[in-house]
Amino acid sequence: MVRPSGGGRATVGRVTGLLDELRAAVGADGVLTDSDVTAGYARDMMPLAPAGTPCAVVLPRDAAGVQAVVRSCAANRTPIVPRGAGSGLSGAANAIDGCVVLCLAKMNNIIEVDPDNRLAVVEPGVVNLELREAVEKRGLFYPPDPSSYDWCTIGGNLATNAGGLCCVKYGVTTDFVLGLEVVLASGELLRTGRRTVKGVAGYDLTRLFVGSEGTLGVITRATLALRPIPQAPATLVASFGTTAAAGRAVATIIREGMVPSLMEIMDRTSIRAVQNFGHTDLDNAAALLLCQSDSGGEVARRELAAIEQACSAAGAELVYATDDLAEGRLLLAARRAVLPALETLGTWLTDDVCVPRTAITSLIERSESIASRLGLTIAVVGHAGDGNMHPTIVYDSSSPDETARAHQAFNDILEVGLELGGTVTGEHGVGKIKQDWLAREIGPVGLDVHRRIKAALDPHNLFNPGSMFSFDD
Ligand SMILES: Cc1cc2nc3c(=O)[nH]c(=O)nc-3n(C[C@H](O)[C@H](O)[C@H](O)COP(=O)(O)OP(=O)(O)OC[C@H]3O[C@@H](n4cnc5c(N)ncnc54)[C@H](O)[C@@H]3O)c2cc1C
Repeated sequence: MVRPSGGGRATVGRVTGLLDELRAAVGADGVLTDSDVTAGYARDMMPLAPAGTPCAVVLPRDAAGVQAVVRSCAANRTPIVPRGAGSGLSGAANAIDGCVVLCLAKMNNIIEVDPDNRLAVVEPGVVNLELREAVEKRGLFYPPDPSSYDWCTIGGNLATNAGGLCCVKYGVTTDFVLGLEVVLASGELLRTGRRTVKGVAGYDLTRLFVGSEGTLGVITRATLALRPIPQAPATLVASFGTTAAAGRAVATIIREGMVPSLMEIMDRTSIRAVQNFGHTDLDNAAALLLCQSDSGGEVARRELAAIEQACSAAGAELVYATDDLAEGRLLLAARRAVLPALETLGTWLTDDVCVPRTAITSLIERSESIASRLGLTIAVVGHAGDGNMHPTIVYDSSSPDETARAHQAFNDILEVGLELGGTVTGEHGVGKIKQDWLAREIGPVGLDVHRRIKAALDPHNLFNPGSMFSFDD
């Protein structure tokens, strides 16, 4: 088995020298060492993942600055944890003790929008929403839309291969990446990919870095494919008396070749939470299905009519469709209100499993069993169109016993996900909380190949060590 060498960790004297080098690389104002300030960069949004104390947070302004930082850290054997906005839900951007957190937030230029070739070139710190708004002004659309789109960065989206609500029709981040610029552990600048629509020259290095969670290099630029702006969406909501009926509707919609631009599911617990939060017009359903079509006009009406028929045939108790934009937004507000509603009940912990679409019902029902066995609230919401479910555990984080049960529930849900033929993460990544689960899912050969790739690109284990997988058995 090939393993990168662990290297020695920084000593106090080496840290002082390193800080001088970092200031020379990015300017004194780009190096933060005040522990009250650096603590704000030490963890992401996953409450259960471990986080250490960085020796500094460094905010470069260009690729040359990143290269200089990487070379200094490599020479000092100081690990680097790349970071975007810290909105991640796997602890992937969490600091480890003595590391440099390399935050790309200040590299936030949209370098180019090229409508004739339908592409954009951006720096990693650009916020997803800012890119969407900028290209929209040119009549274009950047589809990947994680729910955190108003604050997460393109660099973070690339490194986690982020998904979102529109994946069912448009795919995930990787489907929109043409090429990358990456600073390697050697400090060299690697350019992958292309600006053309097609291209098969060499290994697909671009996709090796997409989803690599900051373990292989630092993304400093991306060339992204764009689409024409779709039509304003028409929206449909269907409520079901049983989860199984909702599952049947999803299966029929997929089997019959319908491609909604959004298909979300809410289970009984999330419906109740939203109802208590103020959306009083929701009925006492066991499951809600929300669908959209962005095909426009008559085509959208036909698509939603077919979806309506599938829902009714599956036993929907109520189906309502509208092409009024404001009304559609209001219907979708229920889905968007789930996390704020759960937040009023306690600390939320979102799990992330992707199961075959035919197994969505089982995943929801087995999450209910886990909740009652462990005496917790678990609300399941998810992207029904692609089977990516987010059972969200609500618990009292001031109680060690409840926290332990929440952790247990988190793992039990992953177990169920694998048993149902799914994967332990559909979009949030492995990070510092699912390493053992990745090892289980990919097996010893898969893990060894991961380690060989890491050893080839990052032989001294400089980038995000311990995240995603470890080098110990
Ligand atoms: C309320 C909420 C809703 C969410 N909804 C979704 C959703 O619908 N879909 C989804 O996919 N995710 C979702 N997320 C998770 C999170 O927003 C995404 O994972 C997002 O892509 C992270 O972006 P970030 O800029 O915050 O990255 P960070 O959290 O800072 O980092 C994430 C990973 O990327 C690495 N990284 C960051 N920048 C770079 C770079 N330039 N080069 C190399 N590595 C880098 C980090 O090391 C880390 O491994 C949600 C999170 C929250 C809090």
